[in-house]
Amino acid sequence: MTKTVNLLHSQFDRDGEEALGIVWSAHEQGNPTIQAICERWPQMRRLIPYMERANLLRRNGDIVEFTDEGRQRAEQLVRRNRLAEVLLNQVLEVSPEGTAYTACLWEHMLTSEVTDNICTFLGHPRQCPHGKPIPPGECCRKMVREVTPLVQPLTSLRVGGTGKIVFITPRVHKRLDRLAALGIVPGTEISLKQKSPSYVIRCGETEVAIESSVAADIFVRETSPTK
Ligand SMILES: [Zn+2]
Ligand SMILES: [Zn+2]
Repeated sequence: MTKTVNLLHSQFDRDGEEALGIVWSAHEQGNPTIQAICERWPQMRRLIPYMERANLLRRNGDIVEFTDEGRQRAEQLVRRNRLAEVLLNQVLEVSPEGTAYTACLWEHMLTSEVTDNICTFLGHPRQCPHGKPIPPGECCRKMVREVTPLVQPLTSLRVGGTGKIVFITPRVHKRLDRLAALGIVPGTEISLKQKSPSYVIRCGETEVAIESSVAADIFVRETSPTK
């Protein structure tokens, strides 16, 4: 019982996300029977009952279906992962083969509230680099168009400007940890103090000097008032 409550009230746990993604794929491929799913993904033998208890999946005869809540969560999850793939592929030039794996890491770096910003920034893509459909969000339905990019690397912010960190390129993992230790994580508001000889950003009461190569990996949404 405790486990069920945890799943419902936490974001999702790892197993839950995996199961939702698998059932989504099975439906896309047109073969969501319990036999087909468990044959291809043996871990689902264990995960389906678990997800049923959490009221995210249910069985309808042979077919594994989403509950309303399960579908909603799966859709958001797939949307976020596939948008992350497009971002990695188009902006950061990671090959399509590399994106699927790397995109998994993004759950921790891309908060759900910025998903629509990323989608708008990318021009509301309909497909991931593997050609799979991206579930549309509010932003796609309204066809939000922004003239200026919503998200830019820290290096293109002007000195004195402020911004909120949207994501940090996962190119170097040790570096992410180091930045996180300094409080430089997505969602943090920072201001840019200087660009040379090195970048200096202020984040809360702390001023941090970083190399320009690091600054180029930090993407921000500008929050400074336009002049
Ligand atoms: Zn994909
Ligand atoms: Zn959109």
